[in-house]
Amino acid sequence: MDIRNACRSCCESCMSYFKKPPPNSQPGINKDDIVIVNPQPRPSEYVYVALYDYAARTEDDLSFHTGDTLEALDKSTGDWWIAKALTGVSATKQGYIPSNYVAPVESIESEPWFFPDTKRLEAEKQLLAEGNKHGAFLIRNCESQRGELSLSVLDRGKVKHYRLRRGENGHYHVSKNRTFETIKELVQHYSQREDGLCARLLEPCKRMEAPQTHGLSYQDQWEIPRSSLRLLKRLGAGQFGEVYEGLWNGTTPVAVKTLKPGTMDSADFLREAQIMKKLRHPKLIQLYAVCTLEEPIYIITELMSNGSLLEFLQKDNGTKLGIRDQIEIAAQVASGMAFLELQNYIHRDLAARNVLVGDNNICKVADFGLARVENEDCYVAREGTKFPVKWTAPEAIHSSKFTIKSDVWSFGILLHEIVTFGQMPYPNMTNYQVVSKVPTGYRMPAPPHCPKMMYEIMLDCWKADEHDRPTFETLQWKLEGYFDSDVTSYDDANRY
Ligand code: ATP
Repeated sequence: MDIRNACRSCCESCMSYFKKPPPNSQPGINKDDIVIVNPQPRPSEYVYVALYDYAARTEDDLSFHTGDTLEALDKSTGDWWIAKALTGVSATKQGYIPSNYVAPVESIESEPWFFPDTKRLEAEKQLLAEGNKHGAFLIRNCESQRGELSLSVLDRGKVKHYRLRRGENGHYHVSKNRTFETIKELVQHYSQREDGLCARLLEPCKRMEAPQTHGLSYQDQWEIPRSSLRLLKRLGAGQFGEVYEGLWNGTTPVAVKTLKPGTMDSADFLREAQIMKKLRHPKLIQLYAVCTLEEPIYIITELMSNGSLLEFLQKDNGTKLGIRDQIEIAAQVASGMAFLELQNYIHRDLAARNVLVGDNNICKVADFGLARVENEDCYVAREGTKFPVKWTAPEAIHSSKFTIKSDVWSFGILLHEIVTFGQMPYPNMTNYQVVSKVPTGYRMPAPPHCPKMMYEIMLDCWKADEHDRPTFETLQWKLEGYFDSDVTSYDDANRY
């Protein structure tokens, strides 16, 4: 029997650990060779390291902290595994854990400095965030060179980026005069001495935000009992109803959107909500659950600490945003929309009021799909009163032709909102003037201080023929690469 299978069957039955075989041991170890020792984390494919803190949400799941080790006992359950905590606050206890919060022990993914999917702009934001000091660093996948890695280092309030190149022998280097077999060795070396880098690699960059869990808990309940929710504080109101900060199961902060009776056809809403539930992306608000058995319908989503982007832009903290932050916000929205585009999904009501902001300027697109399930009466009423004319593409206004390209138009208006800190688009123009002037070629002029490239992107989004407008994929790529003049933007390690 393979040692790993032996371990697995042993662990599942008696919950003990095996002694790692000496390197020269023969294959074909049988169960009698397994020696039970004190529970200590062992590198094996079943031992994982926590990348984030997690607080148990139900009696059946485990709390853990970053760096704790856990042994996966059953991975067949998908997004939530049954695990046993080997160290930390829950040591020796068993329960469910979100599988996207852990990485295999001794893998590069488990290293506290490995941020694989972090783009350059995002890396800068994370390193510049509070809590990181000179010498904080991370290693990420390089955007422009697939398969290569980049090192980003905080150097006295600025971030420097280095390419980690690989020689023909597969060894890594920042500077050719010193090569390393593994990335870990490279990190160890530069954490002891600068050796040509701007700083010694000291603390790994602090991780800003734990990823969304898949659903509220391992039970993945869709319809949840109203009694499991406590509404704590009213956050605001929209045309569909009110939004509250709530607590699910007495443990988990959530946002609860209460739908005014009659605003939506509940069968249509449920059909749409089923689709929305499957749309999971870090830049889309996750729909967790619903309460639909009685009126008012509740929609339970993740909670965002800073409310809507519109309010955020208009508030003090909005005016403190620099162009870098603005581009970064726009890139996040484009990233969420590029995912919807890939799924052939249309938002129909993209605007700063429908983007939500969390800590550290994290932005997520909200309310996707809701616009399409408004009932007929509401739609007509909106046309007369609240229809978002200033955000809507001309072909959608005049021929009800809503496509991803009409969302691109709205994205151009959203960019205008970002650059003007939440100013109403087409200021000093009525909806009627907008409806009549835009089809004749009128476009908003560049707002004061708007960078030329940003205005050019807006004009691209507002092309009369929707086929000439860019895709969200292109918009995301342009915005993420806004400050990245490619190779020249990388630093070289100084040679001595
Ligand atoms: P509309 O109904 O026209 O789309 P809206 O988007 O402003 O308008 P809602 O989505 O009902 O209306 O939201 C009302 C307010 O509640 C928002 O402006 C925001 O401040 C707050 N809010 C909504 N969802 C959340 C959430 N998930 N987390 C935190 N605050 C939220």
